[in-house]
Formats: sequence, structure tokens, C-alpha cells
Amino acid sequence: MAKSPQSVSQFLEAVSGENKPRVQKEMGELLKAKMRDSNGSTPLLQPWDKEFYTSQVRSSMRSTSRNSDFLSSYFSLGTVMQGLSRLFTRLYGIRFVSRETMPGETWNEDVRRLDIISETDGHVAVLYCDLFSRPGKSPNPAHFTLRCSREITEEELEEARVNPNGLFSSPDEDVNDGMATSRTSGVLKQLPTIALICDFRTSSKPSLLTFGEVQTLFHEMGHAIHSILGRTSLQEVSGTRCPTDFAELPSVLMEHFAADQGVLSLFARHYETDQPLPYELVAEKLALDKRFAGSDTEHQIILAMLDQAYHSSLPLSPSFDSTQVLHELQRKHGVLPPDPPGTCWQGLFGHLAGYGSTYYSYLFDQVLAERIWQVVFKSGHDGASIDRANGEKMKERVLRWGGGRDPWRCVAEVLDDGRVEGGDEEAMRVVGSWWRPADKSS
Ligand SMILES: [Zn+2]
Repeated sequence: MAKSPQSVSQFLEAVSGENKPRVQKEMGELLKAKMRDSNGSTPLLQPWDKEFYTSQVRSSMRSTSRNSDFLSSYFSLGTVMQGLSRLFTRLYGIRFVSRETMPGETWNEDVRRLDIISETDGHVAVLYCDLFSRPGKSPNPAHFTLRCSREITEEELEEARVNPNGLFSSPDEDVNDGMATSRTSGVLKQLPTIALICDFRTSSKPSLLTFGEVQTLFHEMGHAIHSILGRTSLQEVSGTRCPTDFAELPSVLMEHFAADQGVLSLFARHYETDQPLPYELVAEKLALDKRFAGSDTEHQIILAMLDQAYHSSLPLSPSFDSTQVLHELQRKHGVLPPDPPGTCWQGLFGHLAGYGSTYYSYLFDQVLAERIWQVVFKSGHDGASIDRANGEKMKERVLRWGGGRDPWRCVAEVLDDGRVEGGDEEAMRVVGSWWRPADKSS
């Protein structure tokens, strides 16, 4: 979406400018905490002080009667999955239906199959949920499209009619190897088949999730809903097969839903007493998580800038020093104390290779998601987070296009904001100006 390194810089510098006052305030608080340990002298904040004093301030905020797992009692896995189904029914008119699997259909007996059923189009997707950790399984939560959504052509059907492979009872089944299809308005469609992978470690019965795990599940389900509703005729642009800096938008948006009072009231109840979740508990958890959001964001901004620098022409210079670049960025754009000489933290950060100059996508999609949450879903006020008209808007203007339309047009339409339609440097600057320090957001 950004189109050029200059646009990415525009955006990152705009966010950095908006974020700085918040970091200055947070550093002031940490300095105060350090002064209490320094017998009244005026100490200097060192890079290692950040972790130490932020955790000290955070633990002083936590109510002593509650441990961090207190919320889990309201989030049994079954309840959360039912909640997601209810949310998607309200917003998009689809629901999850559990379905028995056939021998050999899944890769592990832990895997559960859900069929996604639409009020208007019938069966629209298959979702395999593989949610628990086990030896040898990747610990990273992920969404995979096993088969993309697409239209099956008449020519393919004709081939299945002429040359049936003998395993299936009809050409419709044969043409898609027996995997799920549906016929709407005479067109045969290959249904998206999705795997949702998490790494929940729970030995309790029922399985209880931490609030962080609920957020992860909502995030991954945000990718899944893009695959489910992104119904394009060609598989190469279906669902999440869109520009990298657009792909995290639906998933980050779902994190707002996970923290919303109206959404949680659809399902969150105590697994033993059936009492509804008191929202103050979530509000307290969110306040704790966002306590030093300015500093966390500054760290992300510097990393995104570093990723840009490493993928520019800078490393072509014989005198290029990757550590010096990081330290210079910290001094130029940061409020946090820069890393001390002789250290090279960037050597630990694998995403600098993996993302290949698109690490800014995470911050970029955070800003877009927050804007959509505020403008389309009214930050959850007055039931806007579970309102069908708002869901339809999100579906018709963003999700259903997958990667088949310029994402800038999707964003401009869903926000009714023509300033970003062109997706130029000015649009990137506008998006940067939408950044709001986390303490003001709702
Ligand atoms: Zn994601």
C-alpha cells in the first residue's frame, strides 16, 4: 500500500511525532520511581531501567486480591468459540456448526472441524481448529489457507465429466477432489478451507483461556473471516492474499472486539457460577497492558525505521555499520535512553530479515484498524460493535474484496474519507496523523 520508502518514512515520522509527548510523560514517571531508590539524588535513566521500573509501577497498580489468571474463569474455550460465532452472526450473518471429521481427514486427533454457514449463501467455508500445544508443534499462533476460495470453471467441470476418477459420485465433487464446494447462482465455487493454529497450554477441564489467549484467538479469527468472506473468482486474490501491509488490518481490528464490553457480554460467563463477567476486570487488565504503550510504540517505530534503513542503499557503503544505524535512529527519533555502546540488540531480531522492509505494516494496520473501530463501529458505543449494518459495511467495502481491489479504495470507502483514496504520500501522512496515544483510545 505504501508504494515507496518515502511514504513509509512520512508515516513513521508522523506517528513518532504524535507519540513523543506520551513517551516523555512515561519516562518522567520512571525517573520518579528511580529517584525513590536513589536517596533524593537525580539519577539518569539507563536503558535497562525501563523493564525494571515499568514492572515495578505495573505491580503497584494491580489490585492485590486478584491474580493475573482471574479472568480465565470467564473464558472457557467452548464459551469463547460460541462467542465468536455469535459475534459473526450479528455482524455478518454467518455461524459455526461443529462437524464430525472422517478418518484421515485431519492431521491430528486434537483438530476440530467447524463448517461456516451463511444465512443467505449456505455452506461458505470449512475451518479446522488445532488449538492446543503438543510436542513438536510450532508455538506461533497462525492462520493458514489450505484451499483458497475461487470459482470452478465450466471447462474444469467438463473435464471431470469426461474423465471421472471414479472416487466420487458427481462431477461437482470430482472436480474439487471431494473437498467442500457450493453452487450459488449456477456458479460452482471451491470453498475456502482454513486451518487455525494456536498453542494454548491448558490442562484444566473445561479449557480456560487467559485474556491474552482470547485476544490471540480473536486476532487469528480476524484472518479467518477475511478468508471466509473474501469471495473472489480467482484464488490468487482471495481473502488474505492481499498486500502485506493490508493483511493485518482485519485481524488487528478483531482485537478491539475482544476488549469490547458489548461483545464480551454476548458470551463471557463464569464456567462454574454462570455469572456474567464484570467488565471492570477487563478494563483493569487493559489499563495495565496500556500503561507504557507510548514507550512500547516508540520501540516499534525505531524497529520499523531500522528495517527500512537496512533495505535501502545504505548497506552498499563499505563503511556501513548496522549497529551504528540503530543507535543513530534511537538518538534522532527516540525519547527512551539509547542502547549503550558495544551492544547490538538488533542481532536478536529475526523479523528484520523475515519482513524484508514491511515491518512497518504492524503499526500501519494498527492505525487503520483503530480508525475503523472508531468511525465504523463507534468504539463499541450503543451496540455499534454488534450491529449488522456496520458489519455489512465492513464486509461489502473491505473483506469481500480480498486482494482483488486497491486496498486504499477499500479504506476510503469504509471510512467515507476521500483523502486517502489515492494512496499517495499525502494519504500516508493522513494515516500517520490518525495515530492516537493509547491512553485516549477507548
Ligand atoms: Zn496476524
